[in-house]
Amino acid sequence: MAKTIQAIRGMNDCLPTETPLWQWVENKVRSVLSAYGYAEIRMPIVESTPLFARAIGEVTDVVEKEMFTFDDRDEESLTLRPEGTAGCVRAGIEHGLLYNQEQRLWYMGPMFRYERPQKGRYRQFHQVGVEIFGIPNPEIDAELIALTARLWKDLGIFDHVTLQLNSIGSLEARKNYRQALVDFLQNHIDILDEDSKRRLTTNPLRILDSKDQRVQEVLNDAPKLHDYLDDDSREHFAQLCALLDNLGIQYEINQKLVRGLDYYNKTVFEWVTSALGAQGTVCGGGRYDGLVEQLGGHATSGVGFAMGLERLVLLVQEVNTQITLPSAVDIYIVYQGEGTTVAAFNLAEKLRSELPHLRTLLHCSGGNFKKQFKRADKSGAKLALVIGEDEVKNQQVVVKNLLQHSEQAVVALGDIINHIQNTFK
Ligand code: ATP
Ligand code: MG
Repeated sequence: MAKTIQAIRGMNDCLPTETPLWQWVENKVRSVLSAYGYAEIRMPIVESTPLFARAIGEVTDVVEKEMFTFDDRDEESLTLRPEGTAGCVRAGIEHGLLYNQEQRLWYMGPMFRYERPQKGRYRQFHQVGVEIFGIPNPEIDAELIALTARLWKDLGIFDHVTLQLNSIGSLEARKNYRQALVDFLQNHIDILDEDSKRRLTTNPLRILDSKDQRVQEVLNDAPKLHDYLDDDSREHFAQLCALLDNLGIQYEINQKLVRGLDYYNKTVFEWVTSALGAQGTVCGGGRYDGLVEQLGGHATSGVGFAMGLERLVLLVQEVNTQITLPSAVDIYIVYQGEGTTVAAFNLAEKLRSELPHLRTLLHCSGGNFKKQFKRADKSGAKLALVIGEDEVKNQQVVVKNLLQHSEQAVVALGDIINHIQNTFK
């Protein structure tokens, strides 16, 4: 036998046994987004490399070490998108969606990051992202958070996630704070781990979420970000908190939450869980009022979030024991003997026309009734419809309830639709 070829490390197949749960999650997501009146946008998976360097920032983890970048045949540098915001802003500018307008957009699809694969962390993963343009007010920040909270309730995971919230202020405020933090940490340089030392010159705010215990202890005495916030950001944050209080959405203010990407300002937030080990962030987002201009558009405010579908699916599996996923098949048609193939085929097509919400499987692969019934049982179908030579002759169908083995009925072909409709009522 020829040598088999395997999938790329960290890139998973989603198998037919897994897709029903994925579809269940995706449908919940779609219906919540639609209830808020958001519109779907679809962008390419590949973009020009400088887009990400410019949007996300040169000295972020994503751009420094996580991108799948390659030259195409014309030696243009392309990158598999590591996130959706940059591409969404690019598309918005390119198609004139952002200037003097409000947009509430969402997308769903694969993202790519060259990371060490482990539970909840993959090289191809899937995000649902939401991006709102043209609304600077804190109401929309609150709406985004309310939307996610509603989704967690619909997914049955609300009791297992908590909201971390922070304001990182204007770019100016952050610059001042950054200097104060660097000055402070310079005096404690000997206790910084290698990663933090490197970040001191490249991206000092990321030191705040260092995993190193000693670094965290020193940070307890460091200058506090909120003492450096500008008035506008302070007011925006206060209003957001008041709106969340009004909605009864609990949050924890975490002054060390800064998020990994450079483009954020004012609001940042993360929904985290302790049920998935180290990969605890299921959703992260924030405001990015400077990004559109930075990518060449007219100054337009923006705010958004992205959630990881793999982590959501894992969490639903872990904590939601209430879901019953539908089996893939409702009705299985078996047939054997002279003239039964055509009769069975016609019946199957009739069911699909008149009862399209039911899933009908036609056996197709021959064999005796015993073999066919085995398949029918395995399929999870509730009903088997049986057609033998007698049934063809008499214009009838035998209906067998596969879940309650006792029941069997002979039904006239003309009544079959009614009969099935009543069974599935
Ligand atoms: P982390 O700190 O876990 O690396 P991040 O801050 O890099 O996350 P974002 O860029 O904010 O993540 O992406 C939003 C969400 O996408 C994350 O909260 C997570 O649920 C999901 N996500 C990010 N990277 C991966 C990955 N490699 N595999 C699976 N899901 C991911
Ligand atoms: Mg990451």
